[in-house]
Amino acid sequence: MKHNFLCSMVVCMCLLLSPLWAGCTPSSDTNKTSIVCTIYPEYDWVTNIIGEKQENFDITLLCDNGTDMHSYQPSFADIAKITNADLFIYVGGESDNWVKKALKNSTNPKMQIINLLDVLGEKAKKEEIQEGMQVEHEHSDEEQHSETEIDAEHHSEAEGETEIEYDEHVWLSLKNAKTFVSAILAALTQLDETNASIYQTKAQNYIQQLDTLDKQYSVFTSTASKNTLIFGDRFPFRYLIEDYNLKYYAAFSGCSSETEASFDTIWYLANKINELNIQVILQLETTIKQGNKMTIAETIKENTKYKDQKILTIDSMQNTTTSSNKTYLSVMASNLNIIKQALN
Ligand SMILES: [Zn+2]
Repeated sequence: MKHNFLCSMVVCMCLLLSPLWAGCTPSSDTNKTSIVCTIYPEYDWVTNIIGEKQENFDITLLCDNGTDMHSYQPSFADIAKITNADLFIYVGGESDNWVKKALKNSTNPKMQIINLLDVLGEKAKKEEIQEGMQVEHEHSDEEQHSETEIDAEHHSEAEGETEIEYDEHVWLSLKNAKTFVSAILAALTQLDETNASIYQTKAQNYIQQLDTLDKQYSVFTSTASKNTLIFGDRFPFRYLIEDYNLKYYAAFSGCSSETEASFDTIWYLANKINELNIQVILQLETTIKQGNKMTIAETIKENTKYKDQKILTIDSMQNTTTSSNKTYLSVMASNLNIIKQALN
C-alpha cells in the first residue's frame, strides 16, 4: 500500500511539473538567430537594422506587456530565452540587476551580449540629485520622514545614505542611440556575415534619421526663449537635457520609487515656475491619474502664482510595447514637440 501511494505521488509530481518543464523548453526555431531585448528602444533599433531579413531572426522583447521596466521581473520562460540567445541586449542599470543571475546559467558560449551602459563607457552619467528634489529614503514605514534636497552636494556627502548609481535611462539621447545602433550592427554582422552589407546600409540610414532629429533638437534648443524644464514627476531625461545644454528641476530622480512629494518639493518647484515664468509642467507617460487624486504636476500647478500652466506628458518609453504603434524615432520626435511648447 505504502509503495503504491509513493508511486502515485511520483506520478502526480511528474504531471504537476511537466507543464513547468514544457514552459522552460525554448520554443524558438533553431535555424533562426535568437535575439532578446529588455526594453522597447533596443527592440526597435534591432528590427530597423535587420529590415527585410526579419525571417532569419527570432526577436523577443522581454518587457512587452506594458509594465514599467522598473517593476519587471523575468519569468522562467524569459530566463530560458535569455540563456539560449545568440544576442542579448540589456541596459545594465539598477532596474535590470536581475540580469547578472540570469546570465550565470547561460548555455550558449557564443552568445553576444550588449550592455548599453558598458557601451557608453565614460559617457555614462551618474544619477544626479538636483536641488529641490525629493530624496529617496530607505526608512522603515514607522519613520514618516521625507526631506527636500536644498543643499544637494553637502547632503549626500554628509549622510551618504543615498547610493548614487549610473543613470540607466541612456536611451533617451539621440546621440547615445547612434552609438548603440553601431554596437548592435557590429554584433549582427558577426552573427550573420553573409548579410553584413545589408545591415550596414540599414544602420547607416537609421543613424542618418537619428542625426536629422538630433539636429532639429539642437537648432530649436539653441534659439529657444527659455532653457529650463520642470518635471512634476520622476526625471529620466538627464542624457537628453545635457545633450542640448538645457536645465531642469524635478520632483524625483529617474528611478525613484517615491510617489508622494513633500510640501517643500512642491513649493520649491512652484516657486521656480513663478520665478522663471514657466508655462508648462511636464509629467511622464508612466503617471496615471488615480480618481480625483491630484498628480504631483497638478499639485505644483495649484501652488503657483497664476495656476495657469499646461501639464504635458513627455514619453520616456519605459512601458512602450511592440503593439503600441510607436517607434523610437516617432516618440523622440513628439517629445521634441512637447519640449518646444515647454520652452516657449
Ligand atoms: Zn530607472
